[in-house]
Amino acid sequence: MRFDILSLFPDMFASVLNTSILKRAADPQLHQGSPPASYHLTDIRKFATDKHRSVDKPPYGGGPGMVMQCQPIWDAVMAVEQEDIAPARRILMTPQGIPLTQPLVEELAKEPRLLLIAGHYEGLDERVITQLDPLQISMGDYVLSGGELPAMTLVDAVVRLLPGVLGDETSADFESFSPGAKRLLDCPHYTRPPVWMDMEVPPTLLSGHHARIEAWRLEQSRLRTAEKRPDLLK
Ligand code: SAH
Repeated sequence: MRFDILSLFPDMFASVLNTSILKRAADPQLHQGSPPASYHLTDIRKFATDKHRSVDKPPYGGGPGMVMQCQPIWDAVMAVEQEDIAPARRILMTPQGIPLTQPLVEELAKEPRLLLIAGHYEGLDERVITQLDPLQISMGDYVLSGGELPAMTLVDAVVRLLPGVLGDETSADFESFSPGAKRLLDCPHYTRPPVWMDMEVPPTLLSGHHARIEAWRLEQSRLRTAEKRPDLLK
């Protein structure tokens, strides 16, 4: 799967994409054939045409902040889309988008290519949004200074669903909000030692009885979902 990320601050991505699961997903050595993910960063500023390389201007009508201009973003998207024949699903990170949820992540993981646009300052001139008509995705009802962290979050959530990326093929399916966990919260987890600060691991987990362990986990999932996120049970 190809990820194109368009940003004014592409340097923000290096350490995240070069760590842990995201790094492994793009590592040709760890996969037969081509790796599940490839990341392509584009600096929107490279598409500025004036001599100061400016990409933003004050808003018409006055008010604080700067607005990202249409032309550099449009040119960047057009140029990047031509780099590969795979059609790109355009996505704009914006607090005004639909919330990123696990079912949406699952849908995006089926795409051959995602093109993510990270805004900054006051956001993008509305006309380039209209013209590009991207899927608009939000991280939640709060405002960040840029779309870079949201783009990294989206890439992380999608990449771990790609075949072969997590060590155990099925492990992504049993997390909170996932189909294997019936879209509930995950059950509690324990590891060695069996007693820590006088707290014991629930005996069922040490019983070796798979059916009982399975039933216990589902029950725990339901209990903690009812307690912490009753909205998920509806
Ligand atoms: N003026 C805009 C916010 C701009 S924040 C408004 O009030 O709606 C600057 C950039 O940060 C946005 O263009 C977007 O790319 C990113 N951003 C901020 N909060 C976000 C969120 N909750 N989800 C996704 N992207 C967000």
